[in-house]
This record gives sequence, structure tokens and C-alpha cells, in this order.
Amino acid sequence: MTRPIRRLAPETASRIAAGEVVERPLSALKEVVENALDAAARSIEIRVERALDHVFQVADDGEGIASTELELALERHATSKIGSLDELDRLTSLGFRGEALPSIAAVSRLRITSRARGADEAACLAVDAGTLVSRGTAARAPGTTVEVRELFFNTPARRKFLSSATGELRAALRMVECYALAFPEVAFRFLVDERERLDWPAAASHRERARAIWGVRHADQLIEAAGGRDGFEVEALLGLPEHARTTREGQVFLINRRWVASPMLGQALRKAYGNLLPNGRYPAATVWLSVPPERLDVNVHPTKREVRFADDGPVFSLVAGACARPLAQLHPPFTVVRGGVAEPRWADRVRERPGQESLRLGSGALGSAERTAAPAPPAPGERGPAPPAGEEAGAAPGAGRSSAAGAQEPELWQLHRTYILAPVRGGLVIIDQHAAHERILYEAARARLEGARTAGQQLLFPAIVDLTRSQFDLVLELGPWLEQLGWSLSLLGPPTVVIQGMPADVRREDPGAFLQDVLDEVSEDASRHPHEDVAERLARSYACHAAIKAGDPLTQAEMSGLVDRLFATSLPHGDPHGRVTFVQLDLDELHRRFGRG
Ligand code: ADP
Ligand code: MG
Repeated sequence: MTRPIRRLAPETASRIAAGEVVERPLSALKEVVENALDAAARSIEIRVERALDHVFQVADDGEGIASTELELALERHATSKIGSLDELDRLTSLGFRGEALPSIAAVSRLRITSRARGADEAACLAVDAGTLVSRGTAARAPGTTVEVRELFFNTPARRKFLSSATGELRAALRMVECYALAFPEVAFRFLVDERERLDWPAAASHRERARAIWGVRHADQLIEAAGGRDGFEVEALLGLPEHARTTREGQVFLINRRWVASPMLGQALRKAYGNLLPNGRYPAATVWLSVPPERLDVNVHPTKREVRFADDGPVFSLVAGACARPLAQLHPPFTVVRGGVAEPRWADRVRERPGQESLRLGSGALGSAERTAAPAPPAPGERGPAPPAGEEAGAAPGAGRSSAAGAQEPELWQLHRTYILAPVRGGLVIIDQHAAHERILYEAARARLEGARTAGQQLLFPAIVDLTRSQFDLVLELGPWLEQLGWSLSLLGPPTVVIQGMPADVRREDPGAFLQDVLDEVSEDASRHPHEDVAERLARSYACHAAIKAGDPLTQAEMSGLVDRLFATSLPHGDPHGRVTFVQLDLDELHRRFGRG
């Protein structure tokens, strides 16, 4: 139901975050679009001529403004949305300050035409730099049109500081995109110089709106998250880790349908992705949060882009927790292409196997069966080039592979002895061999640290190592964990230890140097992540130093063992340090780049 527009009492007006509402053309447009949404419009059309500060026009089919209230709408601190400050605790509208229209009218030539529902005709006003120049009537369907010409024409100093017209237009399109996500039931059209830049019909769900905005293929890859507690509800569409960006551009936060900037929500999102993402990458995601209005302060900043929660903590954990859940289940939707025939998904195939198998890594670090069948590998430095694909693939049974398949092995290639190229349906996956192996070994190590002790490999000739004093102390501290991983150590007295056995899945030649590397990284890591438990640090350090390196040649069997095991891990997208383990190249993208339409 529409309420009349009233002037806020001076004491109320003075307590509303004061400042510049229209600091730039984008803010003017945002305010006018928010007004249309507050008026319960079902359809909003935005037209721009040349640039936002030349002409923009927003037409809606909302409730409209009574002809008797039109002048009042342009008065400072006149609003139909709140009557007093305590109504902010029940606020459901985007506006509440009664300042946008007068502020815009003061620095432009503004024309407003509005027909209230139930009125016979529309009334219109024209205002130049805040002065009423004409009033009239017009024919119009119910709803409101606001036209803003020559924004800032009377404030030349401000004009000078405007950013580029195209940049502002791009920001405007993004703003509309964000509000379109907040209000999927509203249809949006945006035209620039009569050319349609976007046209989104009313949608029935968030995902349907996402499809209209980003295309079906991309939108359907987004991962849904949801959760709620104590009247707080969150819903999100999360981008795949490999679609993360180097800026926060891909993040949209909507709180009670208001588009806001929120570093706290950004951090919650980042936390949810955990080590699926490398440092310096920001997940792309849209988060819809609904909050009891009394727990949210929207009266923080004149542009209303900032909000404050009564308490950040519960919101942070709600959002981080709800988003982390589906991400933990993430398996890549890839299908290996085998001789042109699509096989079941990697992940599915891998799950069919006995769970333990994916953790049992052979002496060659990558496979078990192929390693027992093949002679012990020479030291990495001595290895010749990898044999041609065909030879080795035929010779090795392929450890850990589903024997039920018995099908053709996928063709894999090693690039620069660093990356594995694997064709998948719809494109190509490029895997970083070291990062992938680290992820595998890390999860295996975590499982061992939490489970029963695993037998290591006994060394034929125990290695005697002189550690530094701090390494020795660390051995004392980590003793049980090291054993759990498969080390068998006896202490000869500081600072010397004898290595009698070491974890079975390690390719490292020098057991002493390996142990020292692991210890050093654990203590280095301790200063970087002081709150992390020691088992976590040990697992990470172990994985890093036990993994094959860039530069190590791999056989077909080793590569397929590695690829299979990677996708059998719980979080295949990133290594334990958060670097990505693979990137995907879409066939569509290749086709496009080769001009195949
Ligand atoms: P606020 O949105 O904070 O109330 P504004 O200056 O943006 O302040 O708008 C003043 C008033 O004008 C609003 O409270 C509303 O009653 C009316 N109004 C503005 N735009 C529209 C619109 N598109 N449809 C209906 N009413 C509108
Ligand atoms: Mg408003």
C-alpha cells in the first residue's frame, strides 16, 4: 500500500547520514532505479543517450506518485518510506532519506512524469538546477518516468572530476546487473543510444535470472549454497574455483535486497573456498542475505552502499559455513574422453573403488602396481626422456584404475615436464603435476595422521643425520606424528638421529635431506600460521617435499594414476597452499578463437 510523502521532522532529518548522495552519475542512476524498485515496479526500462551525464531516463510501472505530492517528492527530506527514525528498524525499502530526487534535481535538468495507480492521467514537473520551470499533465500508463539531463551542468568543478563516460556506463550496467539479481521478478531493459544493451524478462528464481545474465552454460555451473539461523537466511550462487578472479568484480552482495559493499562478506566467502583458491584470487559469487532489519544499520553512509551489522560474528560464520558445505563436495564435472567414447565421470569412477586404494601410493610416489612391476626408478636427474605414450601405457596395468573399465586409456600428454594435458568432454584440462601430487599426498597424510599408524619402508642402510638443534627439538615435539606418517627414527643424542624407515610413498633419494626439508618447512610455517595445529603443518610440509617436482618426467601410467588420484581427493581444485592444481580450457573458447563460430 502506498503511503503519502511527508517531510521528516528536522530532528529526524539531522540524524540521517548526511553527505553527498549523488557523488557521480552512477549514484544518480542508482537512486532512481532504487526508487522504481521501492515503488514495486514489475518492469524497469533505462535509456541512456551518449553518457549518463548527458541524458538518462528511467521508466517504471510501479505505484506512481499522486499528482498532489509530486512537488513534495522533490523536496529535501520528504519521503513516503519512513516517518521517524525508529522505523528504520522495520525498513523494507531501499530508500529512506528523501534526498535523492532533490539532490539530483539541484544539479541537473530533471523531468518527472508520474501517474499513480487509480489516477486518470499523469502529472509532470520540469526542474532546472532545483528551480521549478513547468508543470503539466501527460498521458502515461501508471508508473513513473524520471529523466535527468546534463547532470552537473551547473557545477563545472564537479564535472571535471568525473571518470570516463564509458567507465561510468560500464559501472551502471553492473549496478543494474546487481539489482537484477536482487529482484529477479522484475524485468529490466537497458538501452544506450537506442541500442539494447540488456533485456532480462521477469525470472522465477535466482538461477533463472543468473542464466539470463551470464548465459545458461555458465549459470548452470554455479554451485548453490543455502543456510539460516536466528532469522538470518543466506543463499548463494558460487563460481567454480577456476573462475576466481584477481579482483572482487565478480562478487555481488545483496542484503535485504540492497546491493552493498561488504569486506566482511568478502572474507566469509574467501574463508569458504579455503585452499581451493590461491592467495590473491577472489571467488566469483552472488550472495543473498536476509537479515532482521533491526539487526542491520543501513544509515551509515549517504550512498547506502555500506551497512553495519549489530554483530558481525554470527553473520560471518553463517555465510562462511553455508558456502563451505557445497564446496567441500565439489567434484569436477569432467568426463574423460577415451577413444571418442565418453566414460563415466572421473569422480564417480574413483568413488567406486575401495576407499583406501587412493591413498596407497607406490614406492615411485605415483603408482603402486606399476611400481612393483617396474624396476625402481632412477634418480630424477638420471632419467631419460619419458618414453612415447603408447609403449608405457601398454606395459603398465595402471595402478588403482578401475579394471572394470578395461577400456582404452585416455591419452594424456606431459608438457614441459611440468603439466599434464588431459582431454575431457567439452575441452581440455591442464594439470600442474607438482600441485596435483601435493594435494594427493596431503590428503593421504591427513588420513594417516588421523588414523592408524602406517608402516613405512624400512631402509636397508639406516641413515644417520646430524640435525640442527632446533630441528632436533622439532623431532622430539613431532615424534608421534612422524611415526604416524611412516617414519621410524631413533635418537642418538642431540642433535643426531638415525632414520630406520621412512614413509613408503616418497621418491626422495636422500632420507636425511628429506626429513630436514620437512622439519624446516614446519617451523617456517609455524611463524606464518601460528594458530594452525602442528599436524596440519606437518601434512602440508610433507606433501610439498614428497611430491614430484616440475621437471620430473612421467610415464603414461604415472600420469593417469596422478590424474585419477587427484580427482579422487576431496578438494581437487587446489593444492594445500591454495594454488590451483588445474585449469580448464573450453572447446567453445577454442572454437571461438579459431573463428569456428
Ligand atoms: P527516498 O527514496 O529516500 O524516499 P527520494 O528522494 O529518492 O527519497 O524520493 C522521494 C519520494 O518520491 C519517495 O519517498 C517516493 O515516495 C517518491 N518516489 C520517487 N521515485 C518514485 C517512483 N519511481 N515511483 C513512485 N514514487 C517515487
Ligand atoms: Mg530514493
